[in-house]
Amino acid sequence: MGGSTVTTVCNFRIEVRPDDDIVELQADHRTARVCSHCLVLLTVHRRIHHMKVENVIAQMDERKPLVTEV
Ligand SMILES: [Zn+2]
Repeated sequence: MGGSTVTTVCNFRIEVRPDDDIVELQADHRTARVCSHCLVLLTVHRRIHHMKVENVIAQMDERKPLVTEV
């Protein structure tokens, strides 16, 4: 039955999402993968709360072992 759906763990809320819903963010040579839903949250926080997204990306990158490879 197919089963070819590739999943990736969203680094922001540590949730499994379809791979095509994942966006890769990069800042200061750090990489974080977030789903489109969390990307909206991050964007809103940056605009409203002036949050430094670069710091969040760095923190997510340090949690790397949680990223699964299928
Ligand atoms: Zn997410």
